[in-house]
Amino acid sequence: MRDDFPLGDTLRVVEPIYLDHAATTPVRPEVVEAMLPYWRQQAGNPSSVYGLGRAARRALDDARDLVAAVLHARPQELVFTSGGTEADNAAIKGVAFAARARGRGNHIITTQIEHHAVLHTCEWLEQFGFETTYLPVDHYGMVDPGAVEAAITDQTVLISVMCANNEVGTVQPIAEIGRIARARKVTFHTDAVQAGGALDMDVNRLGVDLLSLSAHKFYGPKGVGLLYVRSGARWQPQQQGGAQERNRRGGTENTAGVVGMAKALELAYANVDQNNAYVQGLRDRLIEGLLERIPESELTGHPVQRLPNSASFVFKYVEGESILLSLDVKEIFASSGSACTSGALEPSHVITALGYPPEVARGSLRLTTGLDNTPEQVERVLAELPPAIAALRAMSPAFATV
Ligand code: PLP
Repeated sequence: MRDDFPLGDTLRVVEPIYLDHAATTPVRPEVVEAMLPYWRQQAGNPSSVYGLGRAARRALDDARDLVAAVLHARPQELVFTSGGTEADNAAIKGVAFAARARGRGNHIITTQIEHHAVLHTCEWLEQFGFETTYLPVDHYGMVDPGAVEAAITDQTVLISVMCANNEVGTVQPIAEIGRIARARKVTFHTDAVQAGGALDMDVNRLGVDLLSLSAHKFYGPKGVGLLYVRSGARWQPQQQGGAQERNRRGGTENTAGVVGMAKALELAYANVDQNNAYVQGLRDRLIEGLLERIPESELTGHPVQRLPNSASFVFKYVEGESILLSLDVKEIFASSGSACTSGALEPSHVITALGYPPEVARGSLRLTTGLDNTPEQVERVLAELPPAIAALRAMSPAFATV
């Protein structure tokens, strides 16, 4: 564990290994430092007219300028939110209801592998007469831009395709879809929550009208994110209240959170190539080492077009939950797409959409590396995980019959 990223209890006998950076990341010390004043000495409300309030307003404005520069956006095109989920909700509902208000169409195009923040929002909109096309993806989790174009009808008001998938790391051809959306005059949103801090976030190069980000995925604080809304985009606010965020998101601003997010984003892009190379080196060693040591294993997601820190697998004849528990005992923290819902192990909608049968999809495991990981930690995972899987398989009736 690197000293500048302390995670876990230092009194443990075995050093904890955190390999779940797609779930969340520890906050960088510099980010904590930047945030601290806005909870104490500078704790004014940015809407207050006196000096303390004006200082908080200035901090928000500075943070907005910083973030806008990274996104190549205008500061007034940013709406700070409580995170990625709120940004996705605001993006999709905001475009849908703006279209409704103008008597436009009711059709949305998205993909089968989006995060639930997108999928459940689209499903929720059905009760208001909106219809959604959930595009399939190929075996690598890749969306076909041609299929996006083919799905557009004269009723289509929004295309929402994620930048990079949170379970398998596949990076989508966003710029290409952006060109199609623009040519067909359809508003285009991307959920860039997993890509933020690692991939190019230039909204013009990406060709997006709306983009969601969440600070806790790039070593910033939890509970703060943003929605980029291109000037002139057909969108309307979804949270009524005060006049904050230029009347687009009522509610006292999370000054410390926004300052932290801006600092984290600035630090991420100051060394983006170096950071990506570091986590990718660890990731590649994990992928190569695990596929070599574990029979009947497969990398899920695209082999090349994937997030630099994302390693995801299916292991036949085991369940992801059981792998997680075996790893947990060894203080190794990872993730599986499958979730225990009402007593049954549900395979992940993402792995299923990639074409894996449910019994294989249930054996999915995601390891996502981060700046706090070390090569020694990766070697320990390579030593611990294969025997753990072999032990689980030895108990599996399905494995006994092969
Ligand atoms: N979208 C994607 C792709 C994500 O991975 C996540 C979080 O895991 C979210 C949205 C939700 O973000 P938040 O946790 O900030 O609400």
